[in-house]
Amino acid sequence: MKLCIVGSGYVGLVAGICFANFGNNVICVDKDETKISSLKTGKLPIYEPGLDVLMEKNTREGRLTFTTDLPGAIKDSEVIFLAVGTPPGKNHEADLSAVRTVAEIIGKNANGYKVVVNKSTVPVGTAQEVSKIIAQHYTGDFDVVSNPEFLREGNAVRDFTSPDRVVVGVNSERAEKVMHNLYKGIERTGRPVYFCKVESAEIIKYASNSFLATKISFINEMSELCDKVGADVKEVSKGMGLDTRIGSRFLQAGIGYGGSCFPKDVQALMVTGKQYGVDFKIIKSAEEVNFDRKHLTAKMLNEKMDLKGKTIALWGLAFKPKTDDMREAPSIVIVDDLIEAGAQIKGFDPVSVEEAKKSIGEKITYSKNPYDAASEADAVVLITEWDEFRNLDWAKVVKSMKGKLMIDGRNIYDPAEMTKVGFDYVGLGRG
Ligand code: NAD
Repeated sequence: MKLCIVGSGYVGLVAGICFANFGNNVICVDKDETKISSLKTGKLPIYEPGLDVLMEKNTREGRLTFTTDLPGAIKDSEVIFLAVGTPPGKNHEADLSAVRTVAEIIGKNANGYKVVVNKSTVPVGTAQEVSKIIAQHYTGDFDVVSNPEFLREGNAVRDFTSPDRVVVGVNSERAEKVMHNLYKGIERTGRPVYFCKVESAEIIKYASNSFLATKISFINEMSELCDKVGADVKEVSKGMGLDTRIGSRFLQAGIGYGGSCFPKDVQALMVTGKQYGVDFKIIKSAEEVNFDRKHLTAKMLNEKMDLKGKTIALWGLAFKPKTDDMREAPSIVIVDDLIEAGAQIKGFDPVSVEEAKKSIGEKITYSKNPYDAASEADAVVLITEWDEFRNLDWAKVVKSMKGKLMIDGRNIYDPAEMTKVGFDYVGLGRG
């Protein structure tokens, strides 16, 4: 099939490259000329394990091209995916300006039946709005489909090619046939491709992310009780998770969720709720708990020392491991809190330093490795649970530090082992 993917960011590139690898002819489009020039020379603008190899293979075999020429790509494609950003607007609503712009360009350039597939995360009702915009400029046949994306950065290729499910919202048989055809490779592997109403598909995406965010905030609240009564939240979440109705995933206490999806999607769903007179009390609380959680690190450090003039090492800056994405990363809030309290910060991240420089800037110094960051520090805080931080030379770290405090923001270490090597170890909800 001939496809074009509009928006060559995390989602668009993964979708485009994987669809090409399934044997389709794919044009990846972006308005950002620098991004497209770099993609044309074989350079990925994002860090995503395994994606570079697939990109090289599919470009070499002629199934994958990159362009800024959106009108041309629309004319050449039967299926047009929208994978543009939908960042938070002024009042936390999803900003649909990129979606609307692309819809108008599709309307002005469509030259035959097109299936327009919304992969961007958009509020319920957007497919209808996109249809209206296209119809203002184009009188031929077309359908708008909702096909939200559930991939996780860092695991995106596997998530896209072997997903728990693909959700496709369609309101026409003709479009359903096209979408079946597109996803038949995935259906054959036994993964469910779930067809439903367009409006249901649009809600499934927001409801799923908000549910997962709620699960995280739930266990984070439990960890506070664990700290007060000497329980270990890791044991609590393991014991809860063994119940298959609950499951252990997204049930790990930490310093709060971040990233380009959970914070914005939770807030955008609340805006939609308000619009339709639904007061989402649970989701609102999940969001409030997470807000406090991002400020917890500074609060914990403040209780241990006067931060004025102290040096704090931050291990990990990205919002989660295996990505360079810094959007809404807890590290950004932590840096601001610590600087306000008068501390100096040395940060290290295995891949996101360049991205971190864009959002955090020169407020902190960037270290070459975790040892450099910890050297002469009064405390070290584990922010992102990269594998690189799991097995360090602890004697070397402890010896090089000025103080001995370690805050394990993701509960990846064994408290007894860390205490034995000489840290004043503090986990979250570890009793
Ligand atoms: P991104 O910011 O990485 O990429 C968006 C791209 O769209 C950018 O390269 C931008 O230049 C391009 N763009 C914007 N307007 C354009 C236009 N008019 N024409 C052509 N290109 C244009 O965003 P992302 O993280 O890939 O997210 C895309 C959508 O997918 C969002 O709605 C997001 O919520 C959703 N989503 C993201 C993830 C994730 O993990 N990142 C997962 C699931 C869903």
